[in-house]
Amino acid sequence: MTAPGAGEVVVVGSVNVDQVVRVARLPAPGETLLATGMTLLPGGKGANQAVAAARLGAATTLVGAVGDDSSAAAALPLLRAAGVDVTTVEVVPGPTGLAIVTVDDAGENSIVVVPGANTAVDADAVSRHAGVVAGAAVVVLQGEIPAAGVAAAARAATGRVLLNLAPVIPLDPSVVRLADPLVVNEHEAGLLLEQLAPGSGTPSDDAALVAALRAQGIASVALTRGAAGAICSDADGTHTVPAPTVRAVDTSGAGDAFVGALAARLAVGASLLEAVQLAVRVGAHAVQGHGTQPSYPTLDDALPEVA
Ligand code: ADP
Repeated sequence: MTAPGAGEVVVVGSVNVDQVVRVARLPAPGETLLATGMTLLPGGKGANQAVAAARLGAATTLVGAVGDDSSAAAALPLLRAAGVDVTTVEVVPGPTGLAIVTVDDAGENSIVVVPGANTAVDADAVSRHAGVVAGAAVVVLQGEIPAAGVAAAARAATGRVLLNLAPVIPLDPSVVRLADPLVVNEHEAGLLLEQLAPGSGTPSDDAALVAALRAQGIASVALTRGAAGAICSDADGTHTVPAPTVRAVDTSGAGDAFVGALAARLAVGASLLEAVQLAVRVGAHAVQGHGTQPSYPTLDDALPEVA
């Protein structure tokens, strides 16, 4: 008999609609410009990670919230199509989380995020779904919901806690130490170290960053490094894992693809190293396609190989 929740991934996190507006150039303060195009895409780190995990075959549930506005309908279709259980996505009064992304012809962008319904994913919301969280093999958390919601979910977990501290929000160090693994990029690693050990200085090389985080009592760490791949470290050792070389067209959401893949593999008992070796390939696959969720692979896709 398998353990309760074996293989199950529960993501507690954000759901957004990304409104991508194309302009010739970014507007100056007070200026009105006509856009040359606009797309509405489902997004939010929690939703992205849930789609990524489910497409790789993980039984995945998303605990989150959308608003009672019309954009809620645009936030959920790819989650549903991927088979993510969204019955634990609550509908709350007010707007659905919205990222207004303005991109100019040079590829420069400016982004305004309206947290909207994501602010409702607090400790009370998590307690309403505590049984779901406790039943997961892997609970996936990020920094786009209130810190109290992240802390409550980390404490309710009985399986592994995958804490992707993006963005870096103020969490009690005891909550950060529940991470197994912590997933951060170089920038986030530096900010977190400053929180955990103020004034100690940020190591300049990535392996030292990972060692410094582990020295703060974090059981395992995966540091993502863009085209260079990742470094992972746990009690079994520290490994540099290169990413496949690919032609990147859009790197948005690559970190979320990495996290979803990592969760899917850890949930079925893979080692951290094995899971990271898949996650770097899934991240590399994602950067070859436009957008976030639409660029994530399914089990039928051939992933790029590491040379
Ligand atoms: P974040 O967006 O969170 O900073 P990264 O940029 O480090 O995350 O990307 C996450 C993962 O996606 C990397 O570990 C790598 O596997 C893959 N990746 C990102 N950019 C590229 C790229 N240009 N070429 C190949 N793989 C990439």
